[in-house]
Amino acid sequence: MVTVDLIAPLTRFLEANAAIRRDKLVAKRRKGLETAVSAAFQKQGRLFLRSLGQLKGKFQESVNPADWIPYWNAAARDSKLDFNDPLQVAILDMLILGGGDLIAGLGIAADEQEELGISWNLENPRAVEYARQHAAEQVTKINDTTRSYLNSMISQAVDEGWSYDRLSDAIGARFTEFAAGGDNPRSRRVAVYELGDAYEEGNRIAAKELQTAGLEMEKKALTAGDDRVRPSHVDNAAAGWIDIDEPFPSGDMRFPADPGCRCATLYRRKQLTPEEKRQRELRREREEIDRLFRQELEQTDTSTTGFILPPPGRAPRGQGQEYADRRAIAARINTQIKFRAQLQSKLDRYRGQKNRRYEMDIATTRVQELTKAIDNALQIADGPGDWDFKRELVNGIFEYLSATTRRQ
Ligand SMILES: [Zn+2]
Repeated sequence: MVTVDLIAPLTRFLEANAAIRRDKLVAKRRKGLETAVSAAFQKQGRLFLRSLGQLKGKFQESVNPADWIPYWNAAARDSKLDFNDPLQVAILDMLILGGGDLIAGLGIAADEQEELGISWNLENPRAVEYARQHAAEQVTKINDTTRSYLNSMISQAVDEGWSYDRLSDAIGARFTEFAAGGDNPRSRRVAVYELGDAYEEGNRIAAKELQTAGLEMEKKALTAGDDRVRPSHVDNAAAGWIDIDEPFPSGDMRFPADPGCRCATLYRRKQLTPEEKRQRELRREREEIDRLFRQELEQTDTSTTGFILPPPGRAPRGQGQEYADRRAIAARINTQIKFRAQLQSKLDRYRGQKNRRYEMDIATTRVQELTKAIDNALQIADGPGDWDFKRELVNGIFEYLSATTRRQ
């Protein structure tokens, strides 16, 4: 069959397509975010250099971090929103695109989403919160990196006795480089990484929402497939489909693991092995039987036949026969209750055994018949009439049941 031979390559194609789709969306949005980040670097550089100018006179002697760090902190603070706001908007946008692709890829239509209680749009609270928090974290990271660049430049300048103008030019050049230097400036690397990372995070959040709504999900690592993939990430892919809450062999929960990682994470509804499917079916069956049993038992108060028994001790004169009748009725009903318990434990043993289906059906019917008879006997014992008459009726009920059972 040709079809069978096509399934594996077709699956690989569709899987690889997930990463291709991500990278296309990143490429489309990259320019906008890169421009904003680039402008933020330039503004930050201008702010920093302007205040650093106050140290010009001091520069002939010595400058230490305590002198310039306050200026840096102020520049970072005053340029914070220039980084943060475009990042937050772009991240939220990509989160929703990523999650939307995941939900669509699983074939979950809008009405089914509604049934599952998932609203995947720009107002999704988890996505909004992630974008807000993650953008702020990334701005802090970007600024930490910039500060350490500045630190080494200024240390070098002091050590080597640079003039203030030389240092100022070097710092200005460095910020220009962050903004637009070379063919892959820092502003572009930030934009590309954050967009791709947000797309992947959108996949993850949406998959988790589906899982919370009751769909069992699993995930798989997809590498770029060339010889530049680090060995530990090759191992991640080799692990195949794993539980969504389990870490990959490298310890990562999803990809990209860092800006150098080109891996993607795939998600799908959990595929059960034939054995897992069988186990699940059996579990459902057992739960159904348990439910039926509980129903039956609740219908009949089998807690005690104590009310039938006469008061303890010897019977008063003239009541000997009544005492004997009451004990006999209680004993008869108790025997039947015990018998029913035996049938039930037999049913317990049959559970999970497919070939015992027929025996289970019979035992279930017997339990139901017996429950009805016990129920009737208890009602008779509790009702009006002489005890010797009730004893006859109760005996009759169980004899009738055993006669009809034998006939079958
Ligand atoms: Zn990787």
